[in-house]
Amino acid sequence: MLRLARHRFALILAALVLGGLGTLSVLTYLRARALIEQQTTSRTLPLTSDAVASGIEQELLQPVLASRLMADNKLLESSLSRDQDNSTVLRTLLQRIQQRTNAATAFLVSEATRQYHHSSGVIKTLSPDDPQDDWYQRFVSSGEQLELNIDRDTADPSRRTAFINVRVDDDAGKLLGVTGVGLDIRDLEQMLRRYETTYGVRILLVNSDGRILLASDQSSGQLQQQPLIGAESARILSASDLSLRLGSHGDDLYVRATRIPELDLSLLVLQEQSPEQAAFHQLLIQNLAAALLISVVLIILAQATLGRDQKQLETIARTDKLTGLLNRRQFEHSFADLSQRAERSGSSLAAVVMDIDHFKRVNDTHGHPVGDAVLRHVSHRIASQVRESDPLFRWGGEEFLLLLFGCDQRMALERLEAIRADLRAHPLERGQLQLPVTLSFGLTLHRPGESSAALVQRADAALYTAKREGRDRICSLDPGNDGNTP
Ligand code: GH3
Ligand code: MG
Ligand code: MG
Repeated sequence: MLRLARHRFALILAALVLGGLGTLSVLTYLRARALIEQQTTSRTLPLTSDAVASGIEQELLQPVLASRLMADNKLLESSLSRDQDNSTVLRTLLQRIQQRTNAATAFLVSEATRQYHHSSGVIKTLSPDDPQDDWYQRFVSSGEQLELNIDRDTADPSRRTAFINVRVDDDAGKLLGVTGVGLDIRDLEQMLRRYETTYGVRILLVNSDGRILLASDQSSGQLQQQPLIGAESARILSASDLSLRLGSHGDDLYVRATRIPELDLSLLVLQEQSPEQAAFHQLLIQNLAAALLISVVLIILAQATLGRDQKQLETIARTDKLTGLLNRRQFEHSFADLSQRAERSGSSLAAVVMDIDHFKRVNDTHGHPVGDAVLRHVSHRIASQVRESDPLFRWGGEEFLLLLFGCDQRMALERLEAIRADLRAHPLERGQLQLPVTLSFGLTLHRPGESSAALVQRADAALYTAKREGRDRICSLDPGNDGNTP
């Protein structure tokens, strides 16, 4: 019972500490997280995103402008609408534009002839069978006025180029061809990487179908297939400005999507868990671990302290203070245990009540402290003559009770004679004083099924006989005798 209560107390204590500290840690963490999240979505990311967007627009502004001017160029328009060889004029024009805009390439495709004009002349005629030329049909049939398309360069297929394609229409709106410039994609990628390192964000440029045209990292393919953001791609592509937090706790992804309508592109700025957030997360784990450790230490300390106290209490509760023998309260326990064992195994169980002879005289002659010394001495002597497993009780003032398991009448008598002899050989010595002490013994054997009270009563009756017959002797009553008729 006591042990259970002790465990419960230690557990409740530890649970309170763990719960308290744990809750505190989690609440602090959640608050910090919410603040960081708010800061990230409402300030850091929009600012970063704006900076990146204007950087990209600036980079593309000149080439876009040049491409638009080319499309609006009347000379170009008329040379496309007239059915004559104008490749030399066009070549010069494209050369100029390529130089002025610092572009990697400048081109013009005629709808009528499907010739691909380049700063170095006509380099090919587009063919419907060549997948490399698919871009032309796709763009003109999209109905868009302008697009940014990343593709292999027709003039140099080893190079990936960002083409700004612009439709050329005559005044009546009839399609004459497509013109534009191409930018070295490496310059653009470098720019994105620069932003990535400066702001600690990932950047994606996505067209209206969700194709990733440019990325600051290795991302490519469709936005729909990207982890986390893939599921939100429809919202991202349709919004003009959108802030999102995706992912689960500790694995968050903040997204800012901004549309660049001039290029029909979406700019995505992605921030994974911020360093602050990671630090707070780690702090939370550390705090929880500390709380757990404190609780475990508390449990151990509480168990050890309470355990020690409990042992002391148990010893105090079980033993007699003066002699250190078991007290009367313990008797029922031992009796129940030994009598059951005796019945089960068919062994005998002997009970002996012992009483110091003329003890009152000792007290009266030598004083109470000497009387106490006699009690301690006698206890010690009796204990020295029995097995440690034989329970010995201080039964009353100068009375003792002994249970001898597995001892029949003869063996029990032998034991008791040994005690008598030992006591004779060891009188109490106090300075000069030698104090002989004798005991009277009442012995009997337990009857199967008999109560402790009946057993003790019979042993008492035997003791009474021993006293009456002159003391310092052993009297026994056999189990059949109820003690009333000696
Ligand atoms: P008998 O031979 O018939 O047993 O005589 P007795 O004097 O031993 O028996 P009695 O019952 O007349 O006296 C017992 C005395 O034991 C009375 C009591 O004051 C004393 N006593 C009881 N407990 C203690 C104790 O703890 N210390 C001391 N010093 N004396 C005690
Ligand atoms: Mg006595
Ligand atoms: Mg007595």
